[in-house]
Amino acid sequence: MGPKKKRTQFSLAYFVLMIFIVWIFNDMVFRPYMLKELEVPYSSFLEYLSRGQVEHVAIGADRISFTLKGEASRPEGAAASSVHNVVRVDDPKIVDRLIEAGVDFSEVKQTEGLLNALMGWIIAFLPLILIWYFMYRRMSGMGGSVLSFGKNNSQEIQGEMTGVKFADVGGVGEAEIELREIIDYLKGPERFNRLGAKLPKGVLLVGPPGTGKTLLAKATAGEAGVPFFSLTGSSFVEMFVGVGAARVRDLFEQAKKKAPCIIFIDEIDAIGQARSSIAAMSGNSERENTLNQLLAEMDGFRPNTGVIIMAATNRPEILDHALVRPGRFDRQVQVTLPTEEGRSGILKIHARGVPLDDERDLDRIAKITPGFSGAELANIINEASLLAVRRNADKVALCDLDLAIERVVAGLQKKTPLSPDVRKKVAYHETGHALTAYYLTGADPVHKISIIPTSKGALGYTMQLPTEDQFLRSEEELRSRLAVMLGGRAAELLVFGVATTGASNDLEVASMLARRMVTEFGMSKTLGPVRYSNPEDSYLGSPSSNRGDISQETTAAIDREIQDIVTEAQNTSMNILRSHRAALDKIASTLQEDEVIMGDEMKGIIESVG
Ligand code: ADP
Ligand code: MG
Ligand code: ZN
Repeated sequence: MGPKKKRTQFSLAYFVLMIFIVWIFNDMVFRPYMLKELEVPYSSFLEYLSRGQVEHVAIGADRISFTLKGEASRPEGAAASSVHNVVRVDDPKIVDRLIEAGVDFSEVKQTEGLLNALMGWIIAFLPLILIWYFMYRRMSGMGGSVLSFGKNNSQEIQGEMTGVKFADVGGVGEAEIELREIIDYLKGPERFNRLGAKLPKGVLLVGPPGTGKTLLAKATAGEAGVPFFSLTGSSFVEMFVGVGAARVRDLFEQAKKKAPCIIFIDEIDAIGQARSSIAAMSGNSERENTLNQLLAEMDGFRPNTGVIIMAATNRPEILDHALVRPGRFDRQVQVTLPTEEGRSGILKIHARGVPLDDERDLDRIAKITPGFSGAELANIINEASLLAVRRNADKVALCDLDLAIERVVAGLQKKTPLSPDVRKKVAYHETGHALTAYYLTGADPVHKISIIPTSKGALGYTMQLPTEDQFLRSEEELRSRLAVMLGGRAAELLVFGVATTGASNDLEVASMLARRMVTEFGMSKTLGPVRYSNPEDSYLGSPSSNRGDISQETTAAIDREIQDIVTEAQNTSMNILRSHRAALDKIASTLQEDEVIMGDEMKGIIESVG
């Protein structure tokens, strides 16, 4: 970012300087040759007129220009062809005077002078544009282009051999596996082409800041041994009109020549924001142009040309839908915050060149830093070695690492390690969701349980993956779903006797679903198969507002019915958890240890408990 910014500012300064030079040039050198104009008072004009010295008069809207006859009569310093200008005063007898003096006169439109001035500018500009052009060619030939408007600078054009390997990236297990396929393809595109296998053109890395998305993209290029072309989305924003689009075009052009290769667009949200929202905010059409160019380029080449486009964002939800639709960035790779094992891996990577007092310290640090990103962990190691230097020690000890965590945490605020008590509650809560899903028919299978806090503020999550696409859900399935949603709260009630605020989001989602079951799907026994909500309500996303034609009693009945459905779901879940208490305890304690449990693992634990 640094040098790039400087360059833009420099060219801007140059631009201003140039205009200034042209102006001076125009005024001092060209103007005297172009038009010799003299401003004279009206009284002088009348005098010339009465003496019969005026040859021709041109009357404009607010000024009068005239030329003089003989040499002798012209005022000092004026050339033979000089035009004299007079500010036109309100003189109704002017025409009579002119006829009387017997001079030619005509009326002119005022634009003539303007046209002359314009010509002056164009002629003055020409040599400067030529100089500029030659300078530009020479400079770009030397590599460091001063005026790198449309062109990428040379570093980007060549693509970078990153040399980063997956061994330099820790704790991104699943993402790494997904990227393997891309690497295989880049190593030998022919093999894929022979079989007609089509790879996605675009891969979007999604994850919180500092989790190693940029690093992972570099490692993908490094592992495949292909050039890495990169651009940062935010660098487009400050540019001149049309430059962003030109840059994108250029980048693709250069990359296609170097295929197989990777094009990486970091922080794509800066240009890929939904277009309507950009317009509403600032009317910045430059970003829009850039985005459109990017879309056009992505559509413009066939899938198997050996160019893979990667992009990274930590805000996938604000991206323009056109970017994530099929044929563009249709593959998303989640880069999550690291697990304990991952954290220990990352710490070890960054401690490679750092002499440690005891290797096992890193595992201890990994244990107490849930929710820390790779970048923060790298920062901890760095801070620790600085502290060791200050101590005059020759090795980094546990006390340095501890203090380093404190420093990093202080810099982050509110990201304190969870207390064991909270962790235990979160573990039971998530296990409650997962176990209910496991035992209920019609619920989606559990993919993963995690108690690593997410950057969005959730303390944990249970991820279910549907086995097939389902567009129609039966009532039974919906009821199972509700039970799973309430599983977290059920577990808390069962184990601790009280519920926490952690379940509030679950309750909100569950109540919404229950309301729809009653009012839209006709799944209530007492109210029957009638649709109660207004069609507009669901458009506005607030099914409770403006229920116009529904009577008070019906409204009350709906509320009662919703209450029943949700309570029943909670009871279903409670019963399941109560009868599988051993599994609940075992999974919850494993979760506190490992932070993440995959679906298969959970199944193994349940079977081992019996
Ligand atoms: P992001 O692009 O996701 O914001 P970066 O890739 O820029 O994160 O990470 C910044 C730095 O943090 C990296 O250069 C690296 O030193 C460190 N880092 C982040 N994640 C990891 C990881 N998973 N493994 C090793 N180092 C990491
Ligand atoms: Mg990054
Ligand atoms: Zn929950």
